[in-house]
Amino acid sequence: GKSWARIGQIPKRVFVRYVERKLLMAFTFANVNGRSALVRENSFFDLEAISDGAVSADPMEALTTPEALHDLSANLETFTASGNVDDVVLGAPVPRPTNSFGIGLNYQTHVDEAAMETPDVPMVFAKLPSCITGPTSDVQMRSGECDYEGELVVVIGPGGKDINEDQGWGHVVGLTVGQDFSDRGAQFMNAPAQFTLGKSMDSFGPTGPVLVSTDSFPDPADLELQTRVNGELRQHDRTSSLIFSIPKLIAFISRFVTLTTGDLIFTGTPEGVGFRNGVFLTDGDVVRTYIEGIGTLENRCIQI
Ligand code: ZN
Repeated sequence: GKSWARIGQIPKRVFVRYVERKLLMAFTFANVNGRSALVRENSFFDLEAISDGAVSADPMEALTTPEALHDLSANLETFTASGNVDDVVLGAPVPRPTNSFGIGLNYQTHVDEAAMETPDVPMVFAKLPSCITGPTSDVQMRSGECDYEGELVVVIGPGGKDINEDQGWGHVVGLTVGQDFSDRGAQFMNAPAQFTLGKSMDSFGPTGPVLVSTDSFPDPADLELQTRVNGELRQHDRTSSLIFSIPKLIAFISRFVTLTTGDLIFTGTPEGVGFRNGVFLTDGDVVRTYIEGIGTLENRCIQI
């Protein structure tokens, strides 16, 4: 009836303003000394402080109120910054996920270098929450067969079960960068492989430096990814190369597991990992993992 007819009559300038406001509402979220914060350029804003307590200081709790994060971000210029991000050590933006998943073989180039078959359904393992660390954490290597895998990490917002693929993006609160460090000796110590143990050793899951809401990107499904070891470019691809898209992964996993706010999905790595050439990380190596529009992890490898 009449209400539908009115949609076509919205003045163009009002519609444009709405779109602009929506773009302005994108947010960048960080964990500063265990407290939730919004980030703009080099400044951070303590969320509990700028929201008068309406948003929790606990990053896990804060991610359950994304509308407030969007609204506060839209008005950030009205608040005084709490500090400069260069003066603090950022923690994992999602420090205590309930569930944390990794996806094996999700770029064809990596399937080829691993000499594996392209999977018909996502190959899922646990990247145990206990291995999740921050963007500049050291990596403790217990063997001479440790390797890097630069990956985009999806952070679940509204949870759910049996999520339809076409609703998948609606269940994402933001994206972050992850390193799926892997001890290849542990991973392949027997057959079938021990993906969960080999990839969940203490300190093997750096994430961050920030979590960026999906409306920050022109296309959140097409982001450049790079991994460098001691400055040398080892991995370079775009997330549009994923075999199983982010909505497909969410639909698939939620058939088995009820997803919860803060759950992580490490979406898989492109070609260029070390182990196919027998080249592993050594004591003192620095791994830098970059994703366009999010930032860079920098992790030093320590042989223990
Ligand atoms: Zn991986």
